[in-house]
Amino acid sequence: MKEKKGSELTKEKAKGKRKAVKNPMGTAFDTPVKIQPIKKPKAVKKVADEKKKETKPKKTKKTDAVVEMATVEKNKGAKKAVKVIFLGGVGEIGKNMTAIEYGNDIIIIDAGMTFPSEDMPGIDSVVPDISYLTQNKHKIRGIFLTHGHEDHIGGLPYLLKELDEGTPVFGTRLTLMLADNKFQEHHITRVDERVVKPGDCISVKSFKVEFINVNHSISGACALAIYTPCGIIYHSGDYKIDLTPVAGEPIDLKRIAELGQEGVLLYMAESTNIERSGYTLSETVVGATFDHLFAENATRRLIIATFASNVHRLQQIIDMAVKYRRKVALSGRSMLKVVEAAARIGELKIPDGVLIDVERIKNFRDNELVIISTGSQGEPMSALTRMASGDFNKVTIGENDTIIISATPIPGNEKMVYRVINNLYKQGAKVVYESLEKSTFRGTPVKKNTRCCTPFLNPNSLSPYTANIAI
Ligand SMILES: [Zn+2]
Repeated sequence: MKEKKGSELTKEKAKGKRKAVKNPMGTAFDTPVKIQPIKKPKAVKKVADEKKKETKPKKTKKTDAVVEMATVEKNKGAKKAVKVIFLGGVGEIGKNMTAIEYGNDIIIIDAGMTFPSEDMPGIDSVVPDISYLTQNKHKIRGIFLTHGHEDHIGGLPYLLKELDEGTPVFGTRLTLMLADNKFQEHHITRVDERVVKPGDCISVKSFKVEFINVNHSISGACALAIYTPCGIIYHSGDYKIDLTPVAGEPIDLKRIAELGQEGVLLYMAESTNIERSGYTLSETVVGATFDHLFAENATRRLIIATFASNVHRLQQIIDMAVKYRRKVALSGRSMLKVVEAAARIGELKIPDGVLIDVERIKNFRDNELVIISTGSQGEPMSALTRMASGDFNKVTIGENDTIIISATPIPGNEKMVYRVINNLYKQGAKVVYESLEKSTFRGTPVKKNTRCCTPFLNPNSLSPYTANIAI
């Protein structure tokens, strides 16, 4: 794999004018960002400019990209650098994983997985190459999870199997509960799980990591402010700005602005939908769309496919089912697991008698049912994909079914999603997908959201992560 090096730090003062900044991946951003020297540490130099052998980053194998930022420790005269090592999730969707290294200490941000593409027959899941971490496992001080989506925690079992026992894993309650499901599946016991809440600040050797509340399509999502000896790295996590969230608090813009005042060295900004203009709409708008669809399909059976981990979405569907006096059946293993975990800790509120076993749906009329299913991305083995191809004995699709695909296809999955939609049409069903896309089922920031945070943070450097390099 390619190694990329070079720092974006500069001693140049902003002088009040806006300048284009190169991102750490070597691509010029089109967004002008103010460059300002940070206050601490006093001496910050551009590695690329120094051209001295000892400042060159060591060859780091098996990583997608390495950003190295140097600081001069004046008193000691020695140079140390903080390295940001992208192990997955840059220029791609899924398997998000980043390591941050300073001296003898490494912390890991997320450990995701992704689903195999069509050219990977026989592969169940794809995880990052962690050989750099296994080679340096004596340095690893902890794993910090931003939220509980598969592309952020799905690789955890594979990582933990390779690390020293007792490596602490930090995350909010729901995030760790979802991670715990995975540990059990993989028979991993004795994981040092540390539950945190937004506002908590964890010190591990050279680093201090602060959890900051953000909005996303799952509860317990956080951004991270990572205090390093070279300055603050702000990792946005997956997020959107939702000032009227269906649960929990709005994103903590006040704290984000305070960090901007303190001085942010590097802003690692999620960029999944960055090419789309406008703001991501509030999740409450999605509720209104469901209300409309439930009313419109009053006599039909409803099957709604969404991400199992989108707990807020599940809550809205359940609320609508209650309103329209329908029972809810769950389809798909991950759906059952997430609903059980979220209901257990009170993240999901399901009135008694609403949930029924999918085996019992034949006892109810079409207009008394909502089936919530996995498979919104057309994943080959998912419940919806199998229903669409007539290969799922628990649910048989018919002409009185309305299937709502309540998630936009992740880039790269479009073919699989449209194949499922075609198959559903062949079975005679009505499929709703595009109109929903307009009311945005996205859980990630579109352009203006990221641009909104940038002036708050006023970072020295900006690095996109996830799909899009441009930001
Ligand atoms: Zn996410």
